[in-house]
Amino acid sequence: MAQPVLEPARDTADAAPEPAPGADVYLALDFANSALALPGGHVIDLLGTPDSANQWLTMHGLAPDDAGIREMCAAQLRSLREQIRALLAARVEGVPAPPTALAAVNDALVRSPAIALLHWDRSTGPYRATPHPTTQILEHALAALAENAAELLTGPDADRLTACGSPPCTRYLLRHGRRQWCSTRCGDRARAARAYARRTQQA
Ligand SMILES: [Zn+2]
Repeated sequence: MAQPVLEPARDTADAAPEPAPGADVYLALDFANSALALPGGHVIDLLGTPDSANQWLTMHGLAPDDAGIREMCAAQLRSLREQIRALLAARVEGVPAPPTALAAVNDALVRSPAIALLHWDRSTGPYRATPHPTTQILEHALAALAENAAELLTGPDADRLTACGSPPCTRYLLRHGRRQWCSTRCGDRARAARAYARRTQQA
């Protein structure tokens, strides 16, 4: 099997299909779908570089466009994405969650720096302050994404969660009726594949 070709996130407007159903409502769903597996073994990772990760966060209201996201931050985002994807997969398949994925999401939740911590200055005494701003932006984003994933998994929409049924697509969506594809492009490809299979069967 051919190795997937990793491409930088350029021309994503052309390559990326519209957001999957439900991804406009659940930030975590759009986050889980931020690496696109395209026909021909191409993968476009919207979090693949610090710049594209910053852009993704800005587009979703989680960071200013000059947040100064570094590779270390982008790597943390990609890591949380894989753990959230593992939880979505477990929910769709009705199997127990991998403990590491659960731990990673909970870790992101409790590290949220929205709460100002108590400090103690030797001369002026106690005061409260939130952690370092750059760290704060990333950790706040990770916490928001983890919280949204937890909401999705425990909320009334969880039963509609499904994986796109059109290989090689790996996106998740919230099902409406019988629709099981994340985009018209995936639906067209799945129908074409079925038609082709019927023709070759009859031949
Ligand atoms: Zn799809």
